[in-house]
Amino acid sequence: MKAIILARVSTEEQMTEGQSIPAQIGRAREYAKRKDFDMVKEYQFDESSTKDKRAKFEKVIEDIRKSKEAIALIVETVDRLQRSFKESVELDALRKEGKLELHFIRENLIVHKDSNSSEIQRWDLATFVAKSFVLQISDNVKRTFSNKVKLGEIIGRAPIGYLNVTDEITEKKDVIVDRVRAKYICKIFKLYSTGDCSMKYLSKLMNEEGLTTKKGKKLGVRQMELILKNPFYYGYQLYKGELYPHKYEPLISYELFLQCQKVKEGYKKIPRKVSEKPFVFQGLMTCANCGCRITPELKKGKYVYYHCTNHKEICEKIYVNQDDLLKEVKAVFSKLVLSDEEKDRLVNSLKATEEGKNEFQKMQLKELRKENDRIEEKISIMYEDRLSGSITIDFYNKKFKELMEKKQENEFKMKRLNNANKNYYITANTILSLAQRAPEIFESSETEEKRQLVNFVFQNLELDGKKLLFKTKTPFERVLEYQSTHNWGD
Ligand SMILES: [Zn+2]
Repeated sequence: MKAIILARVSTEEQMTEGQSIPAQIGRAREYAKRKDFDMVKEYQFDESSTKDKRAKFEKVIEDIRKSKEAIALIVETVDRLQRSFKESVELDALRKEGKLELHFIRENLIVHKDSNSSEIQRWDLATFVAKSFVLQISDNVKRTFSNKVKLGEIIGRAPIGYLNVTDEITEKKDVIVDRVRAKYICKIFKLYSTGDCSMKYLSKLMNEEGLTTKKGKKLGVRQMELILKNPFYYGYQLYKGELYPHKYEPLISYELFLQCQKVKEGYKKIPRKVSEKPFVFQGLMTCANCGCRITPELKKGKYVYYHCTNHKEICEKIYVNQDDLLKEVKAVFSKLVLSDEEKDRLVNSLKATEEGKNEFQKMQLKELRKENDRIEEKISIMYEDRLSGSITIDFYNKKFKELMEKKQENEFKMKRLNNANKNYYITANTILSLAQRAPEIFESSETEEKRQLVNFVFQNLELDGKKLLFKTKTPFERVLEYQSTHNWGD
């Protein structure tokens, strides 16, 4: 069989190395050799230098379409090939025609003309997971990344317990531990973590012990609260809503921080006013007739009805009972429940995907660690050279700075990879457990949660008179499709 290899790197992944194009190609070639394929072409997408990404993908599709024989397309993982379901449509069409076999090395998945529905579903899920995964580790990060955050440098001023300093000669800014105040900060965390001290008590105690701000002011309850929730003290800083590791010395452990958050939660448990939107479909439906928003209305204080806002004044005012809509939604949810056998298949395929990812990340971590060892080595050699006078001090300083920055960057990447791993696991699990427990979760949920669940599973909810029109989001759509044709596992 003829085979095409596709390897791809995008800007984001260059942050997480170990996945270079040559490495991908190498593994794919090995795979092709094992399968005894006849190699016809190798595609390399280096998206960091290519503007027209879409056109390149089209070219692959075009090649396959033109080919007289069936083609095996070999890629390392699903996320090398595609980032969205849009691409699945084109690929799927070729697959059905028998023109294309997809080989995903890491997922250990082959999809072809005669693939059964569970294999297709594995592909869908892998695409879905890959997409969420990629979004999480890269796009978000890329957008919000400032170079400073990347290097673990502080954004803004250092919190109490640290000092902002400027080197007199180089004028380089830095943050150091304020040895005088740091011990008070540790004490605050330690005492609070016992659960026996309120913030008010801590504030009073600290005043007595002489803790003040740099300007000599006393610290109140509000300051205690800010200290106790600041991740900076255990090594992270909050930047645009996300946590990033910083390079300065932490004052406390993450465990201690966590313990304090638990204590604080405990204090808060005393009645909290629930502010919930009382309507499940609020903001989720439009009118099929005129496109206006559908709005809820409470009648007799307990019955919820929906109707078109009728801004265009072309609609009749039809009231639809929320209970009727809920019935329809629940019916869909109950169809998402899979049999044990089907569930096992899904779990297994997810596991396979995840193990692939884990292996992959372990490899990346190893690479990064190795590189940092090499950097250390280089630095020590350079130091010798400097002492012996074979390189100038200027040169040494310049190189030293470069190497240290690279090292710091690698350390940052390692932390990031570890986090991404967790996120990935959560994503995959969420989809599965959600599909499984959708009816149960829905039934037992508060209105706002119900609303979110509806929003998660459905798209384009429309009301046509009294009739609810809807589409479910992929991959739920695929689950429903199979359920309705009863062709599971054939
Ligand atoms: Zn309308």
